[in-house]
Amino acid sequence: MQCIFCDIVKKRSKAEILFEDDSIISFLDINPFNVGHSLVIPKTHYENFLELPPDLFGGILSVVQRLAIGVINGLQADGYNILSNNGRAAGQSVFHCHFHLIPRFNTDGYKFKMDLKKYGNGEMNMIAEKIKSAINNLA
Ligand code: 5GP
Ligand code: ZN
Repeated sequence: MQCIFCDIVKKRSKAEILFEDDSIISFLDINPFNVGHSLVIPKTHYENFLELPPDLFGGILSVVQRLAIGVINGLQADGYNILSNNGRAAGQSVFHCHFHLIPRFNTDGYKFKMDLKKYGNGEMNMIAEKIKSAINNLA
């Protein structure tokens, strides 16, 4: 199976690595939203967030947090977005679980404008009940 992120982990493909330990690696995204746009990934191949073992949650988020400090202090970013696309419908293009850390600047002009919807009468409660019952059925 061909996976560009596994190739980066194995140093078969070049990347600008920012941080690395036994289980996690972080590197610059090759096509940044803004300079300093970084990716944080588990070294083991998991296709998406649902496959990620919970014992990696803390380590991955703590690397994301360190990078956030890195872009604020190192690049004078004014803010940042933390993002994880999961599934083709959500825009995932590399099927090796990853988190984006995107530095934001007051002057960058991005709006992340979405076409926001409104709930119909009673729909909000009905949707909440569906999610809660699915969550409550988890082991
Ligand atoms: P996704 O679209 O799956 O959420 O994000 C995948 C990200 O991986 C994209 O932002 C894309 O620019 C980045 N990417 C794809 N191929 C490479 C590569 O070979 N090297 C690096 N550094 N980033 C890559
Ligand atoms: Zn992979």
